[in-house]
Amino acid sequence: MLRLYNTLTRKKEIFKPIEKNKIGVYTCGPTVYSYPHIGNLRSYIFSDILKRVLLYNGYKVKHVMNVTDVGHLISDADIGEDKIEKAAEKEGKKAGEIANYYLKIFKDDFKKLNILSPDIWCKATEHIKEQIELIKILEKKGFTYKTDDGVYFDTSKLKDYGKLARLKIEDLKAGKRVDMRDKKNKTDFALWKFSEEPRKRQQEWQSPWGVGFPGWHIECSAMSMKYLGEHIDIHTGGEDHISVHHTNEIAQSEAATGKKFVNYWLHGAFLTFKGKKISKSKGGLYTISKLEEKGFEPLVYRYLILTAHYRKQLDFNLDNLENAKNSYQRLKNIISKIKDDKENQRLQESKILDSPENSKSREFSRFSVSKISKRQEEISDKKYLEEFEKAINDDLDMTSALAVLWNLIRDKKAEGKINTIKKIDEIFGLDLLKKEKIKIPEKIKGLIVKREKARKEKDWGMADEIREKIKKLGYLINDTKEGAKLERI
Ligand code: AMP
Ligand code: ZN
Repeated sequence: MLRLYNTLTRKKEIFKPIEKNKIGVYTCGPTVYSYPHIGNLRSYIFSDILKRVLLYNGYKVKHVMNVTDVGHLISDADIGEDKIEKAAEKEGKKAGEIANYYLKIFKDDFKKLNILSPDIWCKATEHIKEQIELIKILEKKGFTYKTDDGVYFDTSKLKDYGKLARLKIEDLKAGKRVDMRDKKNKTDFALWKFSEEPRKRQQEWQSPWGVGFPGWHIECSAMSMKYLGEHIDIHTGGEDHISVHHTNEIAQSEAATGKKFVNYWLHGAFLTFKGKKISKSKGGLYTISKLEEKGFEPLVYRYLILTAHYRKQLDFNLDNLENAKNSYQRLKNIISKIKDDKENQRLQESKILDSPENSKSREFSRFSVSKISKRQEEISDKKYLEEFEKAINDDLDMTSALAVLWNLIRDKKAEGKINTIKKIDEIFGLDLLKKEKIKIPEKIKGLIVKREKARKEKDWGMADEIREKIKKLGYLINDTKEGAKLERI
């Protein structure tokens, strides 16, 4: 039984799909005018975990993610420059080039972080027709009005406007000042904006109301309806989307169709730095490539994200990333040892069987051994797997799920560990069973050569001394028939 926290009801609810087995999930995708920062990527690790949990539970998932390549204004509201147009002007490039360049980096980062690609990526600029059609419906139903600079949605026409964010319209009226221009209500928002001067913008289209471009919110309503239908199961985004973007998506969609738009609204909390939201406008702190340059592989960042619940803000700094790096490395080392032990055990078993003393019982033993090893491969530890499933199905509780994994690998009595870890990694996506290529530092390489020389000269004292030196540098040397093998401590 999967339970998810629904922002709409502010409760954890039992998840009930609209169709028995098929689930539609829409995730608000990136605005592709700049490098994705680690905060953006936290949001997409969250939607990835959600998707993996749905798949784990046996659902078929159609996951749609939009690409905002027009209409998102600097202010996040209806005033100011278009983020893509501004970046294109600054970099002296075409708007489309800007969008494709940054989208590619997003996709590369998704791969590095093992974020499953959405089933459909859809660009706002490729769905202008659908957006115009939706605005026409809203116009026909009397929800719009025209001003000098665009076509607006009249929020006072909707009884339950603001229900997602629990906006108190009266407080808003008295609250912070909004540049109203010709808007009738503070919360009204643009569906279509007119170009200030024709052909000054790179991206503009003809519409029944004048040349211009769509507002930021209408793209998500139009594209989610196109690909997932008018009523969908789950919609996700960052917590900053609750009060405006998602509130307005609900308003337009429900006004147009007269139906409930989304059953479950899920929001990921911010990644912060010194308590403040990491944001593109303030430089974005780090990208994944920057972290790589600093010696942190992308999955270390994914591990860090899994240590916090998706609804809790996580304060980022390089110290907690370093801790995540150490824990992740330790986790992989222990798992690699479990794998090696299993291999050795298998080798031992086949050696015993091949020895002449065993020839009499060979046939029987072979049979039982092959059965045992098969059983070991297939069996997973029921107790731990149940605990793990309980955690992931309790509103994607990754912190508890990670604790289950740590307990499992330390438990000497647990059964079928490797297979259990494989199942667990379907959710974590941490490549826990992938053989790691150790990049040996030059200094260690030198010491190994020295030690080999000492061993050849039978200078055991020196060989041991060098082994200790290597150990202090974080590596353990094992002498095997095939030569010295290195392992990270
Ligand atoms: P944008 O590209 O600015 O449209 O943002 C893409 C996604 O990243 C949205 O879902 C945002 O809510 C999310 N986001 C932006 N900043 C952060 C942050 N600091 N922490 C978590 N998510 C964020
Ligand atoms: Zn959206």
